[in-house]
Amino acid sequence: MDWTPGGLSRDVEDRRDSSGGGGFGFGGGGLGIVGILFLLVISLITGRNYIGSYLSGGGRVTTPSSSSTRPVEHSAAEDRSAQLVSFTLDDVQQTWEKLLPEQTQHPYRHAKLVLFRGYTRSGCGAAQSQTGPFYCPQDEKVYIDLSFWDELRRLGGGTAEFAQAYVVAHELGHHVQNILGIEQQMRQLQARNPGAKNQLSVMLELQADCLAGVWGHSAEARGIIHQDDVDAGLKAAAAVGDDHIQKMSRGAVSPESFTHGSSEQRQTWFMRGLKSGEVSQCNTFQSAGRSSGSF
Ligand SMILES: [Zn+2]
Repeated sequence: MDWTPGGLSRDVEDRRDSSGGGGFGFGGGGLGIVGILFLLVISLITGRNYIGSYLSGGGRVTTPSSSSTRPVEHSAAEDRSAQLVSFTLDDVQQTWEKLLPEQTQHPYRHAKLVLFRGYTRSGCGAAQSQTGPFYCPQDEKVYIDLSFWDELRRLGGGTAEFAQAYVVAHELGHHVQNILGIEQQMRQLQARNPGAKNQLSVMLELQADCLAGVWGHSAEARGIIHQDDVDAGLKAAAAVGDDHIQKMSRGAVSPESFTHGSSEQRQTWFMRGLKSGEVSQCNTFQSAGRSSGSF
């Protein structure tokens, strides 16, 4: 992957030092200029974007307390991952800002991405590193614990980087489904056809893979990703961490019955998005003989 580390995205909430409790609440009714300057200084010293957390958190931010918790040292590999996540997040969202209205007449709205360590709260319940990366439709945020990606990073080089970018693009694919109302339609379908629950989950997941591919089409055209990234990285990404959106948003799907589809299916749908660059090519519901879930 060709990308340049460039700090944290405005849409990233970095909770790596404050997740799991132990921080102190800050603000509430607005910080004032002194508070803002304090956050700026802390951000410059630590290299983390507390200003962004403050602004995106609607006036509340949690910073690590020097007395109760020591800021955690991030490894160089993890910091690079955080920057890659930021880069990908911005690139994917800029792509959708342009493509979604063009192709579907729906305006795109930005999702946030929460980096955390160990445990944090989400609009869909507790987020833990074991859960894996996921998108929460209730608060429109993607949750990622970078320690979960150690395995991806061990692959090294461009493969690992593309695999991480792919996970971010897949989760934002779920955000696009949320904007288009497909998530909600699928839940209604599942309620009406309990027997088809898993099959419908797979269609939703494969569609998110295809939507990740639509971004990939644009990224490939701009020289950010290359064929070798795609070949190796996709296998890795499919094998390691993906979200458990079903479990998180509805709480009752047993892991053994939940599936994202086979690796082969996932690659097929990703490639379909990648080759075409068209949202209309991602109708996994239609190709299974259903009319719902169309764009
Ligand atoms: Zn997913």
